[in-house]
Amino acid sequence: MKSQDIRSKFLSFFEEKKHSIVPSAPMVLKDDPTLMFVNSGMAPFKEYFLGNAQPKNNRITDSQKCLRVSGKHNDLEEVGYDTYHHTLFEMLGNWSFGDYFKKEAIAWAWELLTEVYGIDKDILYVTVFEGSEDADNLPMDTEAYDFWKQHIAEDRILKGDKKDNFWEMGDQGPCGPCSEIHVDIRSAEEKAKVPGKELVNQDHPQVVEIWNLVFMQYNRKANGSLENLPDKHIDTGMGFERLCMVLQGVQSNYDTDVFTPLIREIETITKKKYGKVENVDVAIRVIADHVRAVAFSIADGQLPSNTGAGYVIRRILRRAVRYGFTFLNKKEAFIYRLVDVLSKKMGNAFPELKAQKQLIENVIKEEEQSFLRTLDQGLVLLNRIVEETKNDTVSGEKAFELYDTYGFPIDLTALILNEKGLKLDEKGFDAELQKQKSRSRAASEVSTDDWTILFDDAEEEFIGYDSLEAQVKLTRYRKV
Ligand code: ATP
Ligand code: MG
Ligand code: MG
Ligand code: MG
Repeated sequence: MKSQDIRSKFLSFFEEKKHSIVPSAPMVLKDDPTLMFVNSGMAPFKEYFLGNAQPKNNRITDSQKCLRVSGKHNDLEEVGYDTYHHTLFEMLGNWSFGDYFKKEAIAWAWELLTEVYGIDKDILYVTVFEGSEDADNLPMDTEAYDFWKQHIAEDRILKGDKKDNFWEMGDQGPCGPCSEIHVDIRSAEEKAKVPGKELVNQDHPQVVEIWNLVFMQYNRKANGSLENLPDKHIDTGMGFERLCMVLQGVQSNYDTDVFTPLIREIETITKKKYGKVENVDVAIRVIADHVRAVAFSIADGQLPSNTGAGYVIRRILRRAVRYGFTFLNKKEAFIYRLVDVLSKKMGNAFPELKAQKQLIENVIKEEEQSFLRTLDQGLVLLNRIVEETKNDTVSGEKAFELYDTYGFPIDLTALILNEKGLKLDEKGFDAELQKQKSRSRAASEVSTDDWTILFDDAEEEFIGYDSLEAQVKLTRYRKV
């Protein structure tokens, strides 16, 4: 089944169950001080859950563009290294605002997966909330358990704690237990070695979560206590690309038709083959993923810039350029050339991509060229540093200056030094980074909630994430 049909089957299934199909909200949020980008399907409906606004229909279905690159949900570092977390992805959802509840949500999810999509029920696991013995003293979600029992064998219903099976919007507001659906798409041989239930929620690339059904039945009051909600709501989110992986019988989101046209185009442009060498594969996945995030952001009106959301987008694009430069040997702009394939692939579902194609190409090309110039200048400076280095180790201070003042990525410094048979004083570099961090920490307040103010100044966020990225990258570089 083609991805396009998978998406429309989802929407029409819920339309038949009396849901209104609504288009995805823009991914970039302009007037929400608590969130830069939509990072889950429920974000655009926040006001309905809080009771501040009324939907026209209390049943809605959609495919929402989500971006998880900052705040509580930041998957950026996984992207390219694993095969099922993206920066931008689509979240398929069905919503009940004070209408149907657990029974229907569970029965319909099951009907859709096993009857409409025809997924073998022997590859599915579901989880339910086990209750908590903390101050909330919550009971186990026996309701959900009993409904699931009508559809699936009991040894496939797993119990989970608050971390995985209780969903809260923030310090206050609607919240409740959730049930997640996981698939096990390993080969029979692999399955014989370890039972699937032991791998659920363990970051196994073929035992992955596909759908989260949230049952909002409590309200967390300002004093921290819980009360029952008068109106109960359903909020579900299914990862579209992961669903495509399952239905197309492949082992990675990147092997679905959502990504293969992009990957083929990258292969043609770079003359590299996907599926042969690990670091080339990582780079190709990074680029295929990031071009989507950047293109969709520009289509939504968020151009790369030096502050706030624009800076996050610039960083994503630069990450893609860096991987192309380092592992695919691409020294000139090429990512903009993927926009054509992308808009052909996604333009029907998301017409903004077609409408803005020319602008998206121009902006990406310009950004790529300007960052490549920075890289060129950095290389000249690095060569000078190498010449001046008397022993076999380049000091952390010098590397930091290159990184901090000239924007030259540290992973590239490490790679180039390695090629020249030199070492980098990583400890010294980390020490400089820490110093810079403490200088910039003052103004930023980091919160782990979705709906509390994350940072006073969005630029501060960048500094933190950039520093973190620099550290992590070094580790990653060693791995690749
Ligand atoms: P995971 O545990 O795999 O990180 P999650 O629990 O963070 O997923 P939810 O917040 O429950 O994800 O989102 C609902 C669904 O969206 C998930 O079941 C998954 O299918 C999908 N999803 C979540 N994060 C990503 C991502 N970064 N890329 C692609 N799909 C994702
Ligand atoms: Mg996650
Ligand atoms: Mg999860
Ligand atoms: Mg989840």
